[in-house]
This record gives sequence, C-alpha cells and structure tokens, in this order.
Amino acid sequence: MSHWLCVLVQTPAHATLGSALSYKSDIALPPGTLVRVPLGKRETLGVVWDGAAGHHTGELDPGKIKSIASTLDGIAPLSHSWQQLIAFAAKYYQRSVGEVALAALPPQLRDLSALQIQRRLKRRQTGLEKVAAQGSTALTDAAEGTSPVAPTPPEQPAEQPDLSPEQSDVLAQIHGHSGPFLLFGATGSGKTEVYLQAVHAALQADPLAQALVMVPEINLTPQLEARFTQRFAPLYGDDAVVSIHSGLTHPQRLRSWLSAHSGTARIVLGTRMAVFASMAHLRLIVVDEEHDPSYKSGEGSRYSARDLALYRGRVDGAKVILGSATPSLESWHHSRPAAEGGRYQRLHMPSRIGRAHSAAENLTSAEPPAHVQRGPTPPRPHDGLPLVRRVDMNHQPRNAVFSIPLLEAIKARIARGEQSMVFLNRRGYAPVLHCSDCGWKSECPHCSAFRVFHKIDRTLRCHHCGYTERVPRACPSCGNPDIAAMGRGTERLEEHLSELLADVRRPGSISAQCPEGEAVRVARIDADSTRLRGALQSQLAAVHAGDVDVLVGTQMIAKGHDFRRITLVAAANPDGALFSSDFRAPERLFSLLMQATGRAGRDAALGEVSEMWVQTFQPRHPLYLALKQHDYPSFAEQQLKEREQAGLPPFSAQALVRAQARTQEAAQSFLNAASAAAQPYAQHVTLYPAVPMSIQRVANIERAQMLVESPSRAALQRFLGEWQSELHATRQLPECKGLIRWAVDVDPLAI
Ligand code: ADP
Ligand code: ZN
Ligand code: ZN
Repeated sequence: MSHWLCVLVQTPAHATLGSALSYKSDIALPPGTLVRVPLGKRETLGVVWDGAAGHHTGELDPGKIKSIASTLDGIAPLSHSWQQLIAFAAKYYQRSVGEVALAALPPQLRDLSALQIQRRLKRRQTGLEKVAAQGSTALTDAAEGTSPVAPTPPEQPAEQPDLSPEQSDVLAQIHGHSGPFLLFGATGSGKTEVYLQAVHAALQADPLAQALVMVPEINLTPQLEARFTQRFAPLYGDDAVVSIHSGLTHPQRLRSWLSAHSGTARIVLGTRMAVFASMAHLRLIVVDEEHDPSYKSGEGSRYSARDLALYRGRVDGAKVILGSATPSLESWHHSRPAAEGGRYQRLHMPSRIGRAHSAAENLTSAEPPAHVQRGPTPPRPHDGLPLVRRVDMNHQPRNAVFSIPLLEAIKARIARGEQSMVFLNRRGYAPVLHCSDCGWKSECPHCSAFRVFHKIDRTLRCHHCGYTERVPRACPSCGNPDIAAMGRGTERLEEHLSELLADVRRPGSISAQCPEGEAVRVARIDADSTRLRGALQSQLAAVHAGDVDVLVGTQMIAKGHDFRRITLVAAANPDGALFSSDFRAPERLFSLLMQATGRAGRDAALGEVSEMWVQTFQPRHPLYLALKQHDYPSFAEQQLKEREQAGLPPFSAQALVRAQARTQEAAQSFLNAASAAAQPYAQHVTLYPAVPMSIQRVANIERAQMLVESPSRAALQRFLGEWQSELHATRQLPECKGLIRWAVDVDPLAI
C-alpha cells in the first residue's frame, strides 16, 4: 500500500507554496524524515513535512506522483520543534519553507547520495566506538580534514575560577528564573565565565541536555572554542564540543551537524547559521554580542539569528541569554522593567574583573598632554575602564589627520614600550582620485559609486562590483598628469603615521649593530591585508608578540580581539555616523567605540593607564558625552526617546522590499504597482513610495526599495502574508518587464 507524503525540496525563493511536493512511499514516514526524491531529471534531498501545510495532492493526477527514491536511514527524523522553527522562520521572513529548511541543513546532506551518507555514518560510528574504547582521544579522520575540536589532554582539570560577586549574583538569577535574559556586562566583566557556568549547570542538570552558544564572527570562534573545550572536554569528552560556521569545510560541517543531531555533541558553538542546528535536547541558548549586525543574514531569508534564538528558546523550552556591553536598542527596550511592559530580564555586571576594587587606589596615571578636551583632573571612576579623551579638531591645524596631542600620546606609548591602535572605517588609500583641471573623478563605470585608490598595487578598485583597473598615468578625460587622491583610508593613514613617526626610535633599540636605533613598527589590519588564508591569524600573532608598536585598521580590529598590551585606542575620524541618514548609525558608532574602548588595557597591570581617544569636530555631541562616562544606559535612553518620537523601531516594525531591474523605472514601477494593489487591505501599515537605493546602481543593475512600516508587528506580519501573492502577480505586469529580482527584508538593519 502507498502512503502519500508531503516533501520539502529546495526551490527558487519565490515559488509560492511550491516548495512542498507530493510523493508516495511504501512505508509511512513521520514528518522530519530525510529522504531522497526524484525532481525533474535529478535526485535531491527532501524533508518529509506535515501534510496539512500547503499540500496540493488534490490537484494532482495520482498516476503522476512519483515514489521517493530512498530514506536516509540512520539519521533520526528532525524534531518537531526544529520543524516549528523552520516553519516560523519561513513565515516570518516571507520565504518558502523548503528554501529555509534545506538551507538550514549542511550542504553535504544535499550533495551526497544516500549511499555516501550511509558510509560516513558508519565511519563516524566506528570512530566513536574506537574513542569510547580508548578513552577520549580526538576523533580524527584523514579523509575529512582535521577535527573541528582541538584535542585537549584529558588529564587537564576543568578549573572554574571563584566568581566575582556580580557573576554569582547574575548566575543565581539565571538559575532561579526562566528568562529570556539580557546580560548587560561591561567588556571584561566576565560574561564568558557566566556563559561557561550557565552551560555547565544546564548540562549537569540533565544527562542529555545540550547548549548552543553563538558569537557574531568566525574570527571569534577559535578563542571561544578553546575556552569551552578546555572546560568541558575533560568532563564530557572531546566530541562534546563542536562548531558550526561557514569557515568549516563541508565534511567538517556535516560531522558537527551529525554530532549535534545525534546528541553526541552537548555544546554547539557557532555563528548565526548555528541557530538552525538540529539539537533535540536544547536547554540553553547564549547569544554573545547580541547587538552585532552579523546576526542578521544578508541574503536568502535574511533572518535574524538573535530573534530566532528567542523563538527557539520558547518552543524548545530552553533558557536564552543575550549578552552585550552595548545591547541593541531593541533588546534594551524589551528588558525594561516588567511593570512597564518589558519581556526580558535585565542582568547587570558593570565592573571589570579584578578591577572593581583596585581602580580607586591607582590614580597615578601619566600626566595627560596639553590641548586635550577635559574637565579638571579626570578621576578614574569607571571600575578601571579606560579614560575617554575627545580632541576638538576645530582647534587643530586644518586638514590634520593626527592631532598634535594624539600624536604625542602615541609617542609616549612607544617610549614606554606599549602599543597603540588607530582605527578608521575606510580601507584603501583614498576613496576617490580626482583631476583638479577638469573635475574628473574615479567613478566606477558599472556602479553609482567611486572606485577606491589602492596605492599598494596602484589600482582603482570598486568595492561594490569588484571592477579593478590600473591607476591611469594622467586624467583619462583631459590628460592632466596631476591627478590627486581625495580623502583617506587605512592605507594612507598607515603611510602618514609612518612618516610622522619616522624619526622616533624604539626604546632601548640603539646598540652596536644598530647605532641608529630601530624605527617604529606600524602595521595595518583590514580586509585587504587579511585576504589570504591565515593572514589575519599571523598578523594578530605579530601584535600579540609585541612586534608591532602602532596598529592601524578598520573596525575589524576594534571588535572582539583580546589585545593585552594595547593601552591607547584612537578613532581617527568617527563623526560621519553622527550625520548619517541611517537612523541606526549612532547606535552602531556608540557600540563600536565602546567595544574599542574595551580593547584598551585588557591587561590588568596596564588598565589604569589606558585611554580611548576620539578625534571629533563635535566634542559636545551627546553621544561622545555618554561615551566619556561609559554610560550606555543614558545613551540608550536618549536614542530611544528620539526613536519613539519618530515612530521608529522598536516603537514600530519595518520591512523593506528591494527590487533590482535593468532600469530604475522598472524597479520603481514594480514596487509602486505592488503598493497600489495592496491599498485595499493595507490596514495599520504605511507603504512609502519607492526610492532609489543609496547606491543606486551596482554592476549595471538598478536598485530601488520601498519601506513598509506599522506600529504593530502583528499587523505588519498579517499584511506581508497577504501581500506576498500580490507581489508575485505584479511581477508579471508588462511595465515590470525589466525586473530581475525582488525580495522582502523583514526587520531590516540598514535602510
Ligand atoms: P567578557 O566576556 O565580559 O568580556 P571575559 O569572560 O572574557 O569577559 O572575562 C575577562 C577576563 O577575566 C578573562 O581573562 C577571564 O578569564 C577572566 N575572568 C572571568 N571571570 C573571572 C573570575 N571569576 N575570576 C578570575 N578571572 C576571571
Ligand atoms: Zn582632467
Ligand atoms: Zn562597480
């Protein structure tokens, strides 16, 4: 007898409801079962789904329904709560269930045949048995590359430090309540230790329990993995901690996924994609640096892993901890007191570890240089957090890149053998080349943007489409040989700083071999310097080893890395974000500067002399005043007040529809036509007119967008659900002929 199955397969983004197809099978298979099914001429991976949802067997000729090819025996069906997560994500982010489900599975599950997967499972099984027989040696398999988990000597004890009073307090709250929690803790306040102990408690409470810990960037996973493996491998074995992120090879990813799915892995560490890991006994989810924009996917379903983590916590009955020193304004708002409508429990750890009591005793920092904006003798009130200094650039020589006091402060660091870090949010040498005779500028022929001058290889490169050319010898338009660089990026900053420090010698470097003394070592870390595999690691190692005196870079260096010997961090020119048209720009700037501040003085011995410098033309701007006080709450309050007045998130919900077309008219007419069609049922939502995107043309494709806003998230969701078929229908209109693609971005982060 045949059973009818509804099977999800990977389908193009907008095949309405079409991602669930009908198949038959000799045996009944529960939803969540992984199967291989014929699709056209190919065979593909499918997930058996609950037939009630979007199933169209009635319309089909039963004679044409094909049989499934095989089931992936040996892999247990995906759990009901995983299916709920996928169904929710698809509905909320306006994508097909099949697309979301299949994208959430490791690529090799799709790419390998049932037989090949069978073999892997078998090898994995014998590997695990061997490990069990030998004690806990790491499972290594030459064919599958190195194990994602660094092996740790099993005899190493899992030391747990004595908790600070703040940490104990916070953990007691976590144990005593169901959450979700927002752990608002200063950089270095010991949040990671809280995560470790919360995970420990969850795993101890239940022999099957699993925990998911997410970080925003792949670069941060090795540090975290080392800490978790060191703590938990001795307790639960080397296979207990696995990682899931896009830096793994496909075989590694499959193996991590299988460990999580089977329950062998008790702890999964990962980036945003890990939110979809199959974990049948999930009891705790940690989202570290929850404010980080990397949690929002920039393609496909454009999901927010942080927001899905909260949903997942609810359906799985897992506690959720969001952690940050500068929470997103959304999370901050949701963690207001319950009496005012808050839904998360806010936990606070204001003090840096080991500094809470020593700060007051150590006020003897070096005398600050002159010309610095500051009050009368600045005390060090903030539990050892670095002193924030603003340099008023209005009082500096015109066009100065480095103010005199900042340069002096950097030289003072060099003389003491300490390190400094300067960041600027723009890579390359200069953002534009231009001709002063005829006004020519280095526009990209394919984009509405300038090509950036990279001096190192003398190229003009478009950062949007990648179009690269050699720098012309003379102005391509008038022949003037004198074309000049306008503005500056990190490359130029590095060059300029090296010139300014050219006659400074490193302390103690004068010797018989080197009578002149050694020059100061300036290094740069940004997306250009780290393009090669392993480059970032070796450049970071050079900084850690003390081979660098001054580090220049983009915000890449301001995030996460634990530089112990850096005692001065400077933002060269951060004002741009104060005047951005993106309402989230100040939030991002504040969080970046706070994080950068956290980079300085991680070494307890140097913490008291650490400083964060901000060069600004707006020294009295409230953002910088709050930064100076290390006062996130007052910054948040001021921003939330503005957002409330303007009706912006979190006081409203937004979605963007983006369209790409051959012409700007086609992109806009698609959006405007869809908007017109929606008017009859657009209740409690505002549809704004279509506008060109800020970079209107990329790689010769015109881009436009339309904002949809509602005071109610539910109303917006209801509207988007109804509108979806209209958008599909609009696409077929003659005036939308040049349309290439469109997509909805729910809760967009950049507008
Ligand atoms: P955060 O994640 O909040 O930035 P970490 O958890 O990384 O902070 O802690 C900062 C430093 O303090 C780390 O080196 C960590 O090992 C150490 N640390 C954390 N908690 C304790 C503690 N209770 N006792 C001693 N050292 C601690
Ligand atoms: Zn010219
Ligand atoms: Zn371009």
